[in-house]
Amino acid sequence: MTIKTKLSLGLSFLFAVILLLAGLGTYYANRLANEARKVLKDNYETLAYGKNMLQATDVFLRADSNAYPAAIKIFETNLQRQLANLTEVGEPAITITVKENFDLLQKTLAQRQDQTTVNSYIAAIRQGLYQLTDINMQAIVRKNNVVQKTADRVMMYLVILGTFSILVTLTFILNFPGYIANPIRELSESIKQIANRNYEQRLHFKANDEFGELASAFNQMARKLDEYEHSNLARIMFEKRRIETIINNMSDAIIGLDEKNIILFSNNEATLLLGLTERDLVGKYAPDVALHNDLLRHLLSENGQAPLKIFDDGKESYFAKDVIGIKSPATAADVEKLIGQVIILKNITQFRELDLAKTNFIATISHELKTPISSIKMSLKLLRDTRIGPLNPEQQKLLEHITEDSDRLLRITGELLNLAQVETGNIQLHYRQTHPKEIIHYAVQAIQFQAEQKQVKLETNLPNELPPVNSDLEKTAWVLVNFLSNAIRYSPEQASILISAGYVTASNNRFVRFSVRDFGRGIDARYKDRIFDKFFQVPDADAIKGGTGLGLAISKEFITAQGGTIWVESELGEGSTFSFSLPVA
Ligand code: ADP
Repeated sequence: MTIKTKLSLGLSFLFAVILLLAGLGTYYANRLANEARKVLKDNYETLAYGKNMLQATDVFLRADSNAYPAAIKIFETNLQRQLANLTEVGEPAITITVKENFDLLQKTLAQRQDQTTVNSYIAAIRQGLYQLTDINMQAIVRKNNVVQKTADRVMMYLVILGTFSILVTLTFILNFPGYIANPIRELSESIKQIANRNYEQRLHFKANDEFGELASAFNQMARKLDEYEHSNLARIMFEKRRIETIINNMSDAIIGLDEKNIILFSNNEATLLLGLTERDLVGKYAPDVALHNDLLRHLLSENGQAPLKIFDDGKESYFAKDVIGIKSPATAADVEKLIGQVIILKNITQFRELDLAKTNFIATISHELKTPISSIKMSLKLLRDTRIGPLNPEQQKLLEHITEDSDRLLRITGELLNLAQVETGNIQLHYRQTHPKEIIHYAVQAIQFQAEQKQVKLETNLPNELPPVNSDLEKTAWVLVNFLSNAIRYSPEQASILISAGYVTASNNRFVRFSVRDFGRGIDARYKDRIFDKFFQVPDADAIKGGTGLGLAISKEFITAQGGTIWVESELGEGSTFSFSLPVA
């Protein structure tokens, strides 16, 4: 049955009860009124007639003959009415006796007989009237009792019906709000549970009404959500396990941290390298763990871009640290922010071994090449000797070309050897207190010939007083020669090159700065950071061929090995200033 039907039936029932109560009440009120009216009509009228007749007999008793006709009239009228109102048992006989005695009284009065006879009739009439009054009084009392009983019965019926109605209405009042509100409350509770992702929540309304339909629709929705959640969860769990497996099987060590530096995960390689178990790491505050773990402390520190040498698996392994900041995607409501970081230790042992093999190869080759090149140079020198025989101009030109090429070859092999030394960490530095002027002089001497060939003017600007530096003269001059050689190469003919030096103090450290300024093509800002990398050459269609891209890389190694710094300032089309600084001795 639907709630609508139930509501209609319930309200109809209440309406029926109200109607029944009203109907019964009206019916019994009418019945009581009728009964009461009957008492008034029959018995009270008889009492009134009797009283009137008694009053009339008083006139006869007083023997006031003038008043007789009126009294007789009253008596007759009331007697006639009484004769028409004979309702009680015995009343007709008494009334007839009264009538007979009245007739006799009238005759006696007409014959004017003595008062004694008159009085005897009057006494008989009054006695009859008293009897009538008595009978009617008794009838009134009796009928009153009947009315009373009827009233009691009505009262009882109404009380029973009223009690029944009250009970039904009370039951209705007590149960009906609950009947409507309980399912709604249960429904809202269940919706809250669903909102809290408790998709196992169900409604249990058994009724076959709208609430039953609502419950089955709700349960269906919850079931579908549950299925969706479980299928999603299963898929997410599967993906999670797959990613965990991939991360765990990687040869690189990986550690994930959240934005508060709590360790989220650590793969097998990472736990192995750190010498800890996953339980020692996951969920812990990384700086706390780092207190007792040198490697983790190093990984968390900002510095340390150099490859790490770790004794792992019975052999030396090399690892490169890479820190990737994880950012939350920017939304309309929120800006992009750092939500954690992943530290990756890449195992570069293999590359390191290959690199070492390459360096050794370069070192061997360049060393082996040096001897035949020196021999070529020696032969060239002999050829140029006029004592052996004069050369014609073509042969002279060829000789110059061979000399140039062999010089280049010697320079390249020299640079390759230097590189090999640098890469194997075998730079031999011969420190001594050197005056900056000495270094500059050494370099200018070495490059003078090259400058003159291109008619480039070398201008030196040095302050009178400069402190000496603690450096390897040859290596430092080599760097300066490399700067000057580049400056000449990238400057137009007849250009000027400025060589300067100066005293610099920076946070309690004292340096001497050496600079070479040219007015050549300059360097694009995009490449400024990369020109100190090995084999890097600025990509340019008009590039001046012949370089190796090693000069600046070796220069950087030479200067940093001596505790100095190297840098460049340049504007495209305006020229460049290459500088380095060395600590004061
Ligand atoms: P390279 O042997 O090619 O000169 P370097 O390491 O000395 O190798 O220089 C690297 C690159 O930097 C050069 O190839 C050149 O493109 C650029 N470079 C160096 N010095 C200058 C300079 N004075 N002006 C313009 N570009 C320069």
